[in-house]
Amino acid sequence: MASLMFTDCSSSTTSRLIHLNRRSGTFLLRQCVGQLRLQTTASGRGCCIRSSSSPISAISADTKSSEGAAIVIDGKAVAKKIRDEITIEVSRMKESIGVIPGLAVILVGDRKDSATYVRNKKKACDSVGIKSFEVRLAEDSSEEEVLKSVSGFNDDPSVHGILVQLPLPSHMDEQNILNAVSIEKDVDGFHPLNIGRLAMRGREPLFVPCTPKGCIELLHRYNIEIKGKRAVVIGRSNIVGMPAALLLQREDATVSIIHSRTKNPEEITREADIIIAAVGQPNMVRGSWIKPGAVIIDVGINPVEDPSAARGYRLVGDICYEEASKVASAITPVPGGVGPMTIAMLLSNTLTSAKRIHNFQ
Ligand code: NAP
Repeated sequence: MASLMFTDCSSSTTSRLIHLNRRSGTFLLRQCVGQLRLQTTASGRGCCIRSSSSPISAISADTKSSEGAAIVIDGKAVAKKIRDEITIEVSRMKESIGVIPGLAVILVGDRKDSATYVRNKKKACDSVGIKSFEVRLAEDSSEEEVLKSVSGFNDDPSVHGILVQLPLPSHMDEQNILNAVSIEKDVDGFHPLNIGRLAMRGREPLFVPCTPKGCIELLHRYNIEIKGKRAVVIGRSNIVGMPAALLLQREDATVSIIHSRTKNPEEITREADIIIAAVGQPNMVRGSWIKPGAVIIDVGINPVEDPSAARGYRLVGDICYEEASKVASAITPVPGGVGPMTIAMLLSNTLTSAKRIHNFQ
């Protein structure tokens, strides 16, 4: 079928990645040639999974949908549960001390994708009762204007979290602006002091970056043991791969990091009990890369051409889901895995910040 040509990662046909050109907001096509290497071995599943009494974390062999299929780690359901928990805490805080947590977002320029992310964050805040503040600045604004907005929110007691939507226009010094965000309100967790503390033993960051935090939260909520496990993180970006590796290490996993210069990624990945993939390459990790029973967290969000889809494309992860789900014991889908967790963690960080600032337990 023609549509499968673009969506079936096990085929030897060419799949096409629709590359979102972030500057123009248009889609470009990039060729990505898949390899045919199916792994069907299913022995040794469930090595990392313990049972639990929590409805969301109760994974056992019984919950598998069919013989040989991995458990689907449902990020959408977990994120909803977390939002419900936050809603309760926000209203408890309001009733007890009259404080409503507030999140401020600074959006510079008119990129459609950034505007959509900001809109979604505002919606998420509304859904849990967090107050949202927004400043929109024109593409040709000066760095000083952005710094002034940051400084205003730093000083505003009704704001407990500040987020500068990235990327910023190229004439601005992103690091300079991120450094200006008060570390006490750095709910994105990108401030070097927060990342530095994350890397140091015995030190606690005030905030952990939302996407990697969401990955670890999924493992926790599904009661997947991390301690003593071999973990592989594919990707080393400042916002996902690097902090994900640090978090896994803090949880006593033995961690390897794979990046674009790694010589034998397949071999290293095959040793992992836990894989976190944050690469941005559709279906890069094939079934043959995966140790039977491994747990897979797929951070990648890659639009690939799909003529059968209403929009002409669909989203796939960095993991070849159809192959991996036959080998792994548990796996996140794309979409519906890590994505919804990122915003849930942003709300969680904002609530934590408000509680800390107001010394509310
Ligand atoms: P990024 O900044 O582009 O980093 C990609 C990383 O992957 C880099 O460390 C790069 O290595 C590595 N890499 C690239 N090609 C590789 C290859 N062929 N083999 C091994 N490593 C390779 O991307 P990012 O911001 O971390 O995002 C990664 C993916 O996650 C994207 O699909 C993005 O859309 C998605 N994402 C999802 C969420 C969410 O909420 N679900 C949030 C953020 C990002 P080098 O360091 O050597 O260049």
